[in-house]
Amino acid sequence: MNKLRLAHIYAAHLNIYGDRGNVISLVRRAAAHGLTLEVEDINIAEPEKLFSDFDILFIGGGQDKQQELVAADMLTRRNELADCIEAGTAMLAICGGYQLLGHYYQNSAGEKTSGLGIIDVVTEAAPEHAGAEGIKKLDRLIGNVVAELLVELSPENSFKGDLNTLVGFENHSGRTKFSSAQVSPLARVVRGHGNNAEDGFEGANYRNLFCSYLHGSLLPKNPHLSDELIIRALKARQPQALELFTKTAAENKLELAAHKKALSLRA
Ligand code: GLN
Repeated sequence: MNKLRLAHIYAAHLNIYGDRGNVISLVRRAAAHGLTLEVEDINIAEPEKLFSDFDILFIGGGQDKQQELVAADMLTRRNELADCIEAGTAMLAICGGYQLLGHYYQNSAGEKTSGLGIIDVVTEAAPEHAGAEGIKKLDRLIGNVVAELLVELSPENSFKGDLNTLVGFENHSGRTKFSSAQVSPLARVVRGHGNNAEDGFEGANYRNLFCSYLHGSLLPKNPHLSDELIIRALKARQPQALELFTKTAAENKLELAAHKKALSLRA
């Protein structure tokens, strides 16, 4: 049975700038490699849908308000999610979802939303300030991003040695900083802002958890990362299906053309 299951966590609230495209991309990449990827949304007050029943977990980004709305429910499921990540479940977390896996997200008004503290990072927005004519101004980090991938791709990943850049679009006020070496950066910024527009890194990696500030959505233009998530999911939960994945070569023309185009875009 070559079937994988993906949970789109808080799909109703955390899903902006095309983040659902990451789920569609994983379904397509799995099919291109002979596998079926079933998708289920897990929203607020659905504790009966266990994270441990899924091979891949995905959480998208959201406006401050959306993050506040899911935070309380997310905290009740902290240990369940931490156990999955420690056990090696493959997970992708984008922007606002990434921030809530850290200790907290502080918005530009200085208000804190508690995070899960599963990854040792904190996120703070630049304080709002009065712009021209006293209009409230927020310093958001917005634009096209190109970054050099720092995570090593698996030997089974057909892009290994070929594709080592990440491309996408960012739009966030939060600046994420690592509090220890528990997490390592996903990529090094070549163009754009990344985690905090200071340390030159984009995203984070811990075990099979990949976090990124890149929207657009991220995966359709970065097929090497889609394949890496699927490979890690198979290794962690269905190693018997890995052979099928590797021997079924996927068509990559469109994805590679989109990646190449994004490399040429201005910041
Ligand atoms: N609300 C958060 C911020 O502004 C996350 C935004 C997002 O997910 N794009 O930083």
